[in-house]
Amino acid sequence: MPITVVGSIAYDSVKTPFGERERMLGGAAVHFALAAAFFDEVRVVGPVGDDFREEDLDVMRERGIDAADVERISGGSTFFWRGEYGWDLNTRETLDTKLGVFEGFSPKLSRRSRESDVLFLANIQPELQLDVRAQLPGARFVALDSMNLWIETARDALERAIAGVDCVVLNDAELRQLTGKPSLIAAARELLSWTSSSEAARGPSVIVAKQGEYGAALVTRDGFFALPAYPLETVIDPTGAGDTFAGGLVGYIAAHARGAGGPPSDELLRGAMAHATVLASFNVEEFGTERVRRLTRAEIDARLSQLHAMTQFSGP
Ligand code: AMP
Repeated sequence: MPITVVGSIAYDSVKTPFGERERMLGGAAVHFALAAAFFDEVRVVGPVGDDFREEDLDVMRERGIDAADVERISGGSTFFWRGEYGWDLNTRETLDTKLGVFEGFSPKLSRRSRESDVLFLANIQPELQLDVRAQLPGARFVALDSMNLWIETARDALERAIAGVDCVVLNDAELRQLTGKPSLIAAARELLSWTSSSEAARGPSVIVAKQGEYGAALVTRDGFFALPAYPLETVIDPTGAGDTFAGGLVGYIAAHARGAGGPPSDELLRGAMAHATVLASFNVEEFGTERVRRLTRAEIDARLSQLHAMTQFSGP
């Protein structure tokens, strides 16, 4: 099923203990799309400024991503983010965020983007996520990511956005901050109880907690599943790992969900978690999108087999 994604399309300046890059292609929607495109058709929605390089659009187009709804705003600047990581690559400091063309942006989605069955609201202002959500009322599966900045500055809109989706993908620290619950399971259960007043039948039924180098956990109404991160000796830059994870997760669900709707089965979700884990592991091996843009399906499959082997044990 085709996927529409809205979220930041960015230039990132990043410093890690292993090097630094200035204004490299990044953004939540870009990292997501590059991962999800391994599984299904992806349509990206969002604005860029005059400064956005044509060859950066080609990075997406070369993967078959539909960038027709990437709108160039003349006189504007592309979203910019600057971050720095210390030795603990699980924590980072945001040094600068410039919304640029995202400020006051009002997306007008093409018919194609509105017809997607699957929608991913990648990290960006919650008001914008709500706007795009409203333009795909019939989407069969909708997932959302966010971050501490929006929990702190736009909580009300974020809560409304969450109530209108099927799946929430957040860092463990963000889940705690959002719900005020110290336990991950309690925080996930809290989110599972949020429903939208306008769509009584909806509300999140799948919660994914990203835990950086420790992996990720999945909580549904009846189930729990967790996977470690794929063990890597060298991690160069974790930027975009969460979005790449989400691209693997949602892309896999879009490609494999069958039937007339309803939440994906726990078995399907486990497969999605494994693919997400593998995609994210490639992302962190180099700066920004450098590794994923030349990733092959054969490399994904080889690492999936290894992850499968290392997470098996015999039952009681
Ligand atoms: P991740 O490492 O997966 O959490 O995501 C990193 C990406 O998020 C970077 O490429 C940034 O451009 C983007 N980003 C950082 N801050 C924000 C923000 N406030 N809103 C939207 N995207 C952001």
